[in-house]
Amino acid sequence: MSLAKVSLPVAAVLVLLALAIQNDLDRPFLAPLVSYLVPWGVKQNSRKPIVGDRSLVTNLEQLVVVMTGTGTPVADPERAAQGISVFANGEYLLFDTGPGVAENMAAQGMPRGALTHVFFTHYHSDHIGDFGEVMTTSWIFGRTETLHTHGPEGLKRVVGGFAQAYGPDMDYRTKHHGESLMPTQNWMPSMHEFTLPDAENASASDPASLVDVYTKGPLKVQAFRAHHEPVIPAVGYKVSYKGRSVVIGGDSVMTRGHKEACRDVDVCILDAIHHKVIEVTADTFKSMELPDDEGRSQYSRVSKMLLDTIDYHSAPWDLVELAKESRPSLVIPIHMVPSPTNALMKRLLTTYYREPIPKATGKRDTQIKFGEDGMAFILPANSQEIREQRY
Ligand SMILES: [Zn+2]
Ligand SMILES: [Zn+2]
Repeated sequence: MSLAKVSLPVAAVLVLLALAIQNDLDRPFLAPLVSYLVPWGVKQNSRKPIVGDRSLVTNLEQLVVVMTGTGTPVADPERAAQGISVFANGEYLLFDTGPGVAENMAAQGMPRGALTHVFFTHYHSDHIGDFGEVMTTSWIFGRTETLHTHGPEGLKRVVGGFAQAYGPDMDYRTKHHGESLMPTQNWMPSMHEFTLPDAENASASDPASLVDVYTKGPLKVQAFRAHHEPVIPAVGYKVSYKGRSVVIGGDSVMTRGHKEACRDVDVCILDAIHHKVIEVTADTFKSMELPDDEGRSQYSRVSKMLLDTIDYHSAPWDLVELAKESRPSLVIPIHMVPSPTNALMKRLLTTYYREPIPKATGKRDTQIKFGEDGMAFILPANSQEIREQRY
């Protein structure tokens, strides 16, 4: 850090500490000064308060959705893999914990210590990779209760595995800082594994069967089947609170269930990959035959893997169809391939999402917006207002 960036109070603290060390100044003389100047300096030099935006959990008259990760398994400097933060009823619910989500929670000023529940849509790496960090950093930042995890079959294997891998870290920290600061009982996550009826035999044209997976007062979280074969089970979630609602669709082809779950809700967050771009990209890779030392083509492999992704995600035009039929107020495409990170790709994708959605009598207008990390929607209780904000 350059000297110019060091603020006056921080510099003053450093000078006072240097004086104290050199001249053995009396601690009682320095303590009040330091205790005033250090927090002041930290506040001046930080973009966000260290405990995060606590108003997200203290304001009980709103449902808030923050895009903590909108990316894919492909590394992207602008997007962490998947993680959607939802705040309602004084609770912080996180949907998926893909790689980069823990870092984004800090950068976005999310109140990590207030995290109470993690819900998994499925167990692909781009949806679970940061769970260990999420679990640990929320504990370090003062989580005062067990972290409740929810997911379909497989949850105990995944969360149990993370708990085993991070166990030694917990031991070190509790020994180092003491049980009162780092209580062991708050560290261990609890696991609520649920089963959706007939998940194995369901088809994408089946209607949604919404199953309650968490209810507390006016807050309700329901799960429904997603279709992401061979990933079975995979689910989407609907969160309802004081007349407001949000759907997190998970990774899935478009299903009747998604259309029903999104009917008339406020915010619908869905995956979208552009099948035609994937096909062209796969063809291009295939045409670049470049055998490795053993004569195998390096690019045929990439080409095949790209094509494999087409049959288990929704496409932009599926989202437009859902918008017209189900009439949520907002449709937010995330998990986008290609990622709209340059003007050309933005233009290409916008072509689909600009398709006019006719006004529906007696219903709200529907808008489609690209999901971006840090994008947030504040939904005041029992109203139709949607305020957009950046975190
Ligand atoms: Zn997936
Ligand atoms: Zn995914």
